[in-house]
Amino acid sequence: MSYNINEKGYYGEFGGAYIPEMLYPNVEELRQNYLKIMAEPSFQEEFNALLKDYVGRPSPLYFAKRLSEKYNTKIYLKREDLNHTGAHKINNTIGQILMAKRLGKNRIIAETGAGQHGVATATVCALMGIECIVYMGEIDIARQAPNVARMKMLGATVIPALSGSRTLKDATNEAIRDWINNPVDTHYIIGSVVGPHPYPDMVAKFQAVVSEEIKSQLLEKEGTENPDYLVACVGGGSNAAGTYYHYLDNEDVNIIAIEAAGHGIDSGESAATSVLGKEGIIHGSKTLLMQTKDGQITEPYSISAGLDYPGVGPMHANLYKTGRAEFIAITDNEAMKAGLDLCKLEGIIPAIESSHALAVFEHKKFKPDDIVVLNLSGRGDKDLQNYIDYFKL
Ligand SMILES: *Cc1c(COP(=O)(O)O)cnc(C)c1O
Repeated sequence: MSYNINEKGYYGEFGGAYIPEMLYPNVEELRQNYLKIMAEPSFQEEFNALLKDYVGRPSPLYFAKRLSEKYNTKIYLKREDLNHTGAHKINNTIGQILMAKRLGKNRIIAETGAGQHGVATATVCALMGIECIVYMGEIDIARQAPNVARMKMLGATVIPALSGSRTLKDATNEAIRDWINNPVDTHYIIGSVVGPHPYPDMVAKFQAVVSEEIKSQLLEKEGTENPDYLVACVGGGSNAAGTYYHYLDNEDVNIIAIEAAGHGIDSGESAATSVLGKEGIIHGSKTLLMQTKDGQITEPYSISAGLDYPGVGPMHANLYKTGRAEFIAITDNEAMKAGLDLCKLEGIIPAIESSHALAVFEHKKFKPDDIVVLNLSGRGDKDLQNYIDYFKL
């Protein structure tokens, strides 16, 4: 049994491409070409060169000594926070901009919630001199002013989504509408392992560099490629997919996925998609999503803007359903405390998304000789105001 995608674009029963007729040519063009393009030596060469010299890869695998002592186990942090633009998202946008160029596209659209994916997309568009349009909910534009400013400085046009709850899912709907209207010249850069096939697989493959590096780095440090546990936070699931990718079918390695429980799983204000979710279709993919009895998508909540998505990528829905991964939901309070702990113990200020993953050590006891690799998906600069408000700094 494989936990990776099959030829039809499914992870178990999840995935596929549930799209309106009018989007079919765009998605089909990508589906027919993405593997072929990614396999071209010139693509690999350009992708790897940019990851090295522009993003700053490989990101270090850091043995967190004081954190390990506190929890009496061996903890390694994969430092995606040290990437250019401060998180893992740039791995995907670099891959997709190179894909867009080879497909002959000269206009990029993207959706963004907190603005992190918008910034990563605007960054690679500036790098390549390609027009960039970012859709963002009106509410998010007001909440995330620094990232809106960053996108503008990088030359992107930010268009407010004015419909619905005026947040991420509405921005995504606007981006899809734009793509339908501009099928020939435009590529849509989706920011996580979500959306219609082939997006979840393509994004997972661009992020897979994370687990590829973990293997060789761990071999060098511990004499084995296999940790006992991999831990990552899951919003849509891209940093987690990258962390797990080369270990998916290696059941010697345990997988832990951390979701945002907000004010508590049963509080009505959370983003614990796998636990609370039911099968449904969101943004072109069959997956688990939070919905009411009559199928209306529920507004998610988390203190972390990067984790409050009502769905989860189809890879993760399958990891949940099959029991391959253990899913743990972490509240706002638990995450904030774990984030501050990392600051004091290791001198690293994590993104609040990553702080959710760090809270695993308060939830689960590991053995002294267990090797736990935790993906530190991003740095906390963008969250400073949240930390200030929460801790009254
Ligand atoms: C966007 C983001 C996430 C969540 O997105 P995934 O696709 O689930 O990885 C996690 N951490 C950081 C730092 C982010 O910016």
